[in-house]
Amino acid sequence: MQPTARNMLDSVRVRLTVWYSAVLAVVLVVVSVTTYLIVRKTSMQRTDSDLAVLADSFLVTLQAELGDAPGGDGSAILSAAKQSMVEHRSNSDAFIVLDPGGGIIATSTDVISSSAQSEDGVKRSVASSDFQHFARIGESKAAGWETIRGEHSRFRVYSRQFKANSQPYLLIVLHSLHAQNEMLETIRLTFMWMILVGLILAGTGGYFLARKSLAPVVAMGEHARRIGAINLHERLPVLNANDELGQLATTFNDLLDRLDQSFERQRRFIADASHELRTPLAILRGEAEVAISQHGRKAEDYLESLGILHEETSRLIKIVEDLFTLTRADSGQYLLSPENIYLEEVVADCAHSARTLAREKNIELSVDASAECLIRGDQALLRRMILNLLDNAIKYTTEGGRVDIACRAVTAGFEIHITDTGPGIPPDLHSRIFERFFRADLARSRSGREGGAGLGLSIALWIAEAHHGRLELVRSDAAGSHFAVYLPGPGIALTGTD
Ligand code: ADP
Repeated sequence: MQPTARNMLDSVRVRLTVWYSAVLAVVLVVVSVTTYLIVRKTSMQRTDSDLAVLADSFLVTLQAELGDAPGGDGSAILSAAKQSMVEHRSNSDAFIVLDPGGGIIATSTDVISSSAQSEDGVKRSVASSDFQHFARIGESKAAGWETIRGEHSRFRVYSRQFKANSQPYLLIVLHSLHAQNEMLETIRLTFMWMILVGLILAGTGGYFLARKSLAPVVAMGEHARRIGAINLHERLPVLNANDELGQLATTFNDLLDRLDQSFERQRRFIADASHELRTPLAILRGEAEVAISQHGRKAEDYLESLGILHEETSRLIKIVEDLFTLTRADSGQYLLSPENIYLEEVVADCAHSARTLAREKNIELSVDASAECLIRGDQALLRRMILNLLDNAIKYTTEGGRVDIACRAVTAGFEIHITDTGPGIPPDLHSRIFERFFRADLARSRSGREGGAGLGLSIALWIAEAHHGRLELVRSDAAGSHFAVYLPGPGIALTGTD
């Protein structure tokens, strides 16, 4: 695809270069114009003061000549003026002396020979330029500096009144600005070329510099593009961890780390979930195959098979429900339905439900839930959390054991304590029991009817945390286990339909 102007501007390199060159152009133009104006002004001021000095000198000579000249008529002035002009002859200056009526008495052209005609055209210009203009200056008796345009070049004109023989006269000194204009023209051209060449050099240099500086970013982008789900363990190279690009690469690598871990968790979750689902599904298929293949079975055999099918299906449903709860919790889609509830009633209710299970195992279940514990929470979830903990306590306690559940109000909120006289959890596994699909006693959990999928505690922990509380294993040893739930008071705002 051909790069269009718009596409090109999409590149940071080009944008940087354009901005850089534009700023540089503005700076160069401002500096050049300012310098040029200062030079022009200074040179004009010098010309003006030179003209004034020249006029002074001219008049001194003229007065001296006048003093020497006999008589006091017009011819004396004319000869004095001419003499002064001869003495002050120059290629770039000319003099005009006007009488009180504005009439020209003498001009430099009268005294400058054609061979001495100046290169910059003073004589030509004075000879043919607008003498009426000088006459007008004489008429207005104006004095001072002025710039006028001659035929070939511009002039700086200085006029000064003087008295001779008690009559007012006007002296006009012209200075050709030809040389000065040429110098200014040279300065203008020099600046123009300087700006042009400077911009080209700076633009090219800036572009290559930007390209060089951004090359690691481009390389990083290409490297990052190659990283996908399959090679998520790959990382961007960090050349210098302290510079901005190094920090960017490190931040990106940290992000990849988190993604990698999240992917890993997800992968493990899916693998564990499929593994957990495979066992009951295999049992279901096996039992169904047996029932189908054996003709003429007794009704009780069929009933037994149906019982197993029912049990395994319930197990499957429980696993799927737990998985569904956890995935919704992970994605933040599980919205709580908070309401004001009496926690002690929920605890008593759960104990009541678990009593049948306890009785089956001849386990003594005692409940201490007499104190009023008004809490704001999701009743169904809190119930599920307590049942999971009670269920575990009964499940893992041997026949004839004891399970206690107590609910009480404390200053910080409410506490639920569940203790049992079961075999306990090995100390090295304490930190892992809240992990998903983790089972401390794999053999017993998998094979027996009691075996769960290892999701009960993960869900209980999530429920406690969703209520801004905690679930902890307080103690677990050969004498039994003690789990505690800490929930905050009713003032807590929960994420949900509140
Ligand atoms: P499960 O569905 O296997 O019960 P949980 O997440 O509820 O999964 O429990 C995780 C593991 O922690 C269990 O497999 C069990 O080994 C251990 N465990 C949980 N509660 C108790 C308890 N009260 N006594 C002994 N072990 C327990």
